[in-house]
Amino acid sequence: MNDQAMTFNALARPWIEGLGTYEPGRPIEEVARELGLADAGEIIKLASNENALGPSPKAMAAIRQAAKQMHQYPDGGAYALRQALSRKLGVPPDTIITGAGSNELIELIGHVFLDHTAEIVMADRAFVAYKLIAAMFGAGVIATPMVRFTHDLKAMKKAITPKTRVVFIANPNNPTGTMVGQGDLDAFMNGIADHVIVVIDEAYIELLPPRLQPDCIRYVREGRKVIILRTFSKTYGLAGLRIGYAIAPAACIRLLNKVRQPFNTSAMSQIAAVAALDDDAFVKETRDMTKAGLKFLESAFRRMDLEYVPSSANFVMVKVGNGRQIFEHMQRSGVIVRPMDPYGLPEYIRITVGTPKQNQRCLVALRAAVNAVNS
Ligand SMILES: *Cc1c(COP(=O)(O)O)cnc(C)c1O
Repeated sequence: MNDQAMTFNALARPWIEGLGTYEPGRPIEEVARELGLADAGEIIKLASNENALGPSPKAMAAIRQAAKQMHQYPDGGAYALRQALSRKLGVPPDTIITGAGSNELIELIGHVFLDHTAEIVMADRAFVAYKLIAAMFGAGVIATPMVRFTHDLKAMKKAITPKTRVVFIANPNNPTGTMVGQGDLDAFMNGIADHVIVVIDEAYIELLPPRLQPDCIRYVREGRKVIILRTFSKTYGLAGLRIGYAIAPAACIRLLNKVRQPFNTSAMSQIAAVAALDDDAFVKETRDMTKAGLKFLESAFRRMDLEYVPSSANFVMVKVGNGRQIFEHMQRSGVIVRPMDPYGLPEYIRITVGTPKQNQRCLVALRAAVNAVNS
């Protein structure tokens, strides 16, 4: 070895070392190993907003059929899935791009629109991926305060500068579960600067009954500078497959396709997504379970005198004191939730709605943790 050897750090682009890392929900197997449990089945994970019902049964059946084709590369352009989405959403196929989860699409947006001369605008308690991706491309981040844990679209519009390229709005937002309505979105879009692309991340939108879903696809039809992000990870139960999509004017989709790897989404994920899209019964069951579960958890929080943030998604943030300690205590009893200190909310945890049985167990663990930690 040469003693003048350069370190990897010295060779890396200068801002890489300073990048934050995303702290995901703890995997069940990892926690089982740590607790010395042979049976990972005793642990429940209510930490990543996954669908407690499992995957769409139609998606599973389609995958079984398709398994014999896995030696072949997928259609990177995801023709069949884009056709199915086009029919379902009433937009042309050339306004749709698919990605390995909507997280990949956020990164593609970075590749196309962000560099060290650019800025993003987001809310301070919005989905953390936006600022991580901005940092990856050396772009600045303007984070405006939320009001009652909700995006303050007026403040966000005011925060736009000549350097702003992208504004991110998560609707409903993760981790707060709050939503902005059609009127506020329309007012925000009305007269927004022409050099700004508005990304509306609708990861949880299908959980709402259609009459409560704001219509943002209309902005795309109007040719506005809007990108809508959707995913199959939450409502459709396909988080492990990694499949999501974006809807935007064709001129924008064309650019996003230039920075997409040729086979970015797998054949299995595409086939499963087409089948899941058709699984109305599963979506309904998921909506019903989520609604009932939220109601159950929220009324328990009220009885326990715990403040919570009323949620429009499949998770809820609750104020427990020392969130990190409560999280650790619950984890020791086999219930994984999410501490909120990475979001600057150290007194909160976020709980994903589970099955009725899981919700029960979660509450037992929460009560024990609150008693132990706060006494
Ligand atoms: C879960 C989530 C996503 C995306 O997840 P993917 O699995 O990458 O599709 C995107 N945005 C928000 C707000 C989320 O909560």
